[in-house]
Amino acid sequence: MQKNRIFHWGPITALTIITVLFSTSVLTFLIWCPPDDLFGVLHSLIFLTWVINIFHHFFKAMYIGPGHIPFKWKPQEEGGSDYLQFCQPCQGYKAPRSHHCKACKRCVMKMDHHCPWINNCVGHQNHRSFTLFLTFVVIGCSHAACMMIFCVVDHLLWINGTMLLKVNHRAPLRMNRIFIIGLLFGIGLSIGVTIAVGILLFYQMKGILKNETGIESWIVEKARLRPRPEGDIFVYPYDIGMFDNLKQILFTGDDYLGDGITWPVFEDCDQYTLTVEQLEQKDLKRENIITFKAHTEYNGAWFPLAHGFKVCYFSPWSEEDRLSVNIGDTINATRIRRHWLYGVKVQKRDASSNGRVTLPLGECDRQKGWVPRCCVDEFIDQGVTILKKAQ
Ligand SMILES: [Zn+2]
Ligand SMILES: [Zn+2]
Repeated sequence: MQKNRIFHWGPITALTIITVLFSTSVLTFLIWCPPDDLFGVLHSLIFLTWVINIFHHFFKAMYIGPGHIPFKWKPQEEGGSDYLQFCQPCQGYKAPRSHHCKACKRCVMKMDHHCPWINNCVGHQNHRSFTLFLTFVVIGCSHAACMMIFCVVDHLLWINGTMLLKVNHRAPLRMNRIFIIGLLFGIGLSIGVTIAVGILLFYQMKGILKNETGIESWIVEKARLRPRPEGDIFVYPYDIGMFDNLKQILFTGDDYLGDGITWPVFEDCDQYTLTVEQLEQKDLKRENIITFKAHTEYNGAWFPLAHGFKVCYFSPWSEEDRLSVNIGDTINATRIRRHWLYGVKVQKRDASSNGRVTLPLGECDRQKGWVPRCCVDEFIDQGVTILKKAQ
């Protein structure tokens, strides 16, 4: 657990938005529906329940974290490591469902994604608190939005001489212009947050019902699309039925079930069903690698105007890194688009180090990311090096 997780733009922005919305809502309460009668008290208590749950699950998701596979980990059963990928930075095997996170510098148990808003990964141990955080944000923000909308409508009705929606009938609802502007800003912000977080929650719930993390859904999609021998049907091992999937993450008295290394699997599957599929996909990827050499420098900018409008316009819609290159760098590309390609930079090793570099545990020296196609040429080695200008 890191103490400084909160000192990052993600949690600071998230907490600022929550605090702004909470303050605007409190002001709305005081002016529109103060807690001085039974309705007001109950209404305030319900709203407070959302707010407490938002903060509680936010901090829990951030500080409990997803759980990490110990450095230098290997499976206990003999031969188990043959079915697992090795993680160079962690100097250990990747347990089933775990993946290495470059930001956290650790192999993360049942990794879903690295979330900048909590400045931590979402995985095995904080999946439940993260999902509950999203749920309460959607409920709390839609409650705040409705309340502020009613408050503004009430004010407009008062201007027109009626007060149909007003809850507090003791005094006319008069608000000054600054407060109205503040309310309109609060309405926009709370609707925006409800929609954005609502979409994220929808995809989280979809994944939870299938017991598939964000990363696993990519693996499953590739597994179903890739050519395989006749009669060989891919079965996703962790989907053990909708109710049991839900139970594993949400309907548990604890934050999480299990050790984060072994998992309940569907009949006829075993602990290594998915990891074997991952290894096969990796082999396939290796077979399809195309090597490129950089002839123009690229500084890693997301929108490199110097390389043309089209390169900026078609900048990949993905959080993946951009890979800066110098003239002469070699890139092993695994995904090639018309204006960009994704690949790994081939490291130039110091001859004296015998090809090996010693890095602190967790650190990764493999540089990968997107490079504009116009900066590289395909490299064809046929005994003689021929450089073919990229189209
Ligand atoms: Zn790792
Ligand atoms: Zn992470």
